[in-house]
Amino acid sequence: MTAAQDTLYPTPFEAGNGNQTTTWAECVAFYERLAARFPGVLQWRRIGVSDTGVPMHAGVVTADGVFDRETLQRQGRPVFFNNNGIHPGEPEGIDACMALVRDFCTQPARLAALGGTVFLFIPVYNVDGCVNRQDTARANQLGPEFFGFRGNGRHLDLNRDFIKCDSLAAQVFNQFFTAWNPDVMVDTHTSNGADYSYTMTLIPTQPDKLGGGLGAFLRERMLPAIYGDMRQRGWPTCPYMNLLAETPDDGIEDFLDLPRFSTGYAALHHTIGFMPETHMLKPFADRVASMRTLVEVVLDFTVAHAAQIQALRRDARAAAARQARWPVSWRNDRSRRPACASRAMRRFARPASSATTNGWPTTAASRGKKTSCTSTAAWTLCPSPRPRPTSCPRPGAK
Ligand SMILES: [Zn+2]
Repeated sequence: MTAAQDTLYPTPFEAGNGNQTTTWAECVAFYERLAARFPGVLQWRRIGVSDTGVPMHAGVVTADGVFDRETLQRQGRPVFFNNNGIHPGEPEGIDACMALVRDFCTQPARLAALGGTVFLFIPVYNVDGCVNRQDTARANQLGPEFFGFRGNGRHLDLNRDFIKCDSLAAQVFNQFFTAWNPDVMVDTHTSNGADYSYTMTLIPTQPDKLGGGLGAFLRERMLPAIYGDMRQRGWPTCPYMNLLAETPDDGIEDFLDLPRFSTGYAALHHTIGFMPETHMLKPFADRVASMRTLVEVVLDFTVAHAAQIQALRRDARAAAARQARWPVSWRNDRSRRPACASRAMRRFARPASSATTNGWPTTAASRGKKTSCTSTAAWTLCPSPRPRPTSCPRPGAK
């Protein structure tokens, strides 16, 4: 970005002290201004209203100025979807998306690099929570100074409401997501509850739930590429700290993303989903930077492999259309232990002082120590009729 563009279109985060996130009103005004100035790059649209009547918006960015959904779908264009602010107290993605869209508008080379891929985004999904600003709901988080609230206007957690759709917002989202049918989704979050080296951790759609070829592609091609690129770009990333037991010594396991969560909901559509979780005890500016990098890395991979991803999704959807029996219960497959380079997980140090997070002790893993995690397990289809309980609350809930 040039200095002139910085001056003309700074985001509130960029214009602030590095520890401030946008308000909902500033965010909407920012995109309205960009869309008015760059109508051939960004289309900004209202998609519904929330449970308390706050307008919900989405944006579409394309390199050729085609924004009509049906036209784009007739052309077979790949769709990358970035959802932000489902938990507005975890706002890095909101600020990072604003800067990225601004850069699409002001940097022709960056826009051209999209090729035929559509960059679709919801700037703030939980608009009710975003306008409910305070500085106490996530007291153990290191910034920003003020931020939105987790629940919506009816105190519903939208990241538990994708299926039951108790909220009007979730009904809007379902219609929006189903209509656009994105190939890849990134839904941005901040972690709770554990202390470790990494600024960025990642929950992908559980690959076994995507279907044969698509799941294998995510596990064997896409995830290694994302972890490699994140490391190369200065933000080494590890799987989300979903602990098997009390300490990382016992290992971590893949998160079972049931359809009430965003990535589990995406899997129902054979959409590859990612739930990046920045570390709440890292400085807000670092969290914004790592989130911006994560979105760019996944977007770049999507653009480069769009044809393959689309073909695998077509195969998965065709196979699903022929499928007569569906798994509804899953269990952890401890026989599969993918190695993941780790510098934080093996040695559990101690409970970190007397700090607590949401009433739970904050756990601390040794920082910076290079080792390898051997206990990461994968989920696989459960052949047993006895389901694993999944509703117990845990520290670090998404
Ligand atoms: Zn969250």
